[in-house]
Amino acid sequence: WWEENSKEAYNTGLANASVAFDNYAKSKSGERRGKRLGAPRFKSKRKARLACRFTTGTIRVDVDGRHVTLPRLGTIRSHEPTAGLLTRVQAGTARILSVTVRHERGRWFASFQAEVKRDVERVTRPDVAVGIDLGVKSLAVMADSTGEIRTVPNPWHYDGALKLLRRACRTVSRRQGPDRRTGRKPSKRWEKANAARNKVHHRVANIRQDALHKLTTAVTAEYGTVVVEDLNVAGMLRNRRLARQIADAGFGEIRRQLGYKTHQRHATRIIVADRWYPSSKTCSGCGAVKAKLPLHIRTYACDACGLVLDRDDNAALNLAALARACTTGTGVAGDQDAVKVSKPRGADQKTRATRRSRKATAGRAGGATLPHQRQTQARDRTHAEA
Ligand SMILES: [Zn+2]
Repeated sequence: WWEENSKEAYNTGLANASVAFDNYAKSKSGERRGKRLGAPRFKSKRKARLACRFTTGTIRVDVDGRHVTLPRLGTIRSHEPTAGLLTRVQAGTARILSVTVRHERGRWFASFQAEVKRDVERVTRPDVAVGIDLGVKSLAVMADSTGEIRTVPNPWHYDGALKLLRRACRTVSRRQGPDRRTGRKPSKRWEKANAARNKVHHRVANIRQDALHKLTTAVTAEYGTVVVEDLNVAGMLRNRRLARQIADAGFGEIRRQLGYKTHQRHATRIIVADRWYPSSKTCSGCGAVKAKLPLHIRTYACDACGLVLDRDDNAALNLAALARACTTGTGVAGDQDAVKVSKPRGADQKTRATRRSRKATAGRAGGATLPHQRQTQARDRTHAEA
């Protein structure tokens, strides 16, 4: 059976195991931030998501813009047009590093990891900072440093589909499904009903992804500084009354997208407020801090100066004001780390050679970076795009 499959099928598993052991060791020694990780466990054959990462061999987006060629699997018709990546590859601004094939909710996906050379896009208001307060009632309240407040309503993707989903699930449960104990195979009608249910899940996920990208792209294209809160999303998900809504809103994903879009697309700043920064309890007018402000109180009324405004508006204004405090320093509260690009096995040799030579030239010019050089470096910044 070894020869029947691509060698990458086995290599992916070994590479993942290696990463897992590495994370475990680093977590144990305190090198890795975040929750303590245990020793790697075996994946379940039944539950694990099927995925395989191809790093060598013929990986290609075909010129017709409708097919992809993968090692061992050959040329496959893609459902979506591949024009976006294809034009970049043909223009020489993208280099494909690897491709990951995965099975999700009944569909197969091929995600390309590519190194893309793109110009830093200018933002429309580089001097304005925006504070973003994420919430369940309205997805985001954005206040900029000029005092303008905008509210993005929560689209309720999942709740909107709940009725459809309930119906689809009921149909599935009435059909003869697979049974592991008796070895019963699912019936054709079960498979059909299950596919219909998968479709609903897909639709919710796609609508959510689209809305989040539109929101973060618009924000990062406008402002020079973006201030967000460092929310404890994992902790908030433990609240069983709010978990569904919080997971649906995608707070963590908004943070991640804002992070890479500010750094890599526009070379702007993102400031992440400390987790314990009292953005809701502070008065945006006079700076007085309340000791307590329960979640059900939706309007903020200041005891010191008598200011009354919406709770979320107040929090967003406080976050925007935080940008001013961080302007002079190097960004104490800031998260200036560039987003790390995970390189697949042995795929980065070519790039490293060119990078080193470029750095050597800059070094010979006398150490300090000149303005025009800085610009070049920013333009050469690359990033991975699926
Ligand atoms: Zn006040």
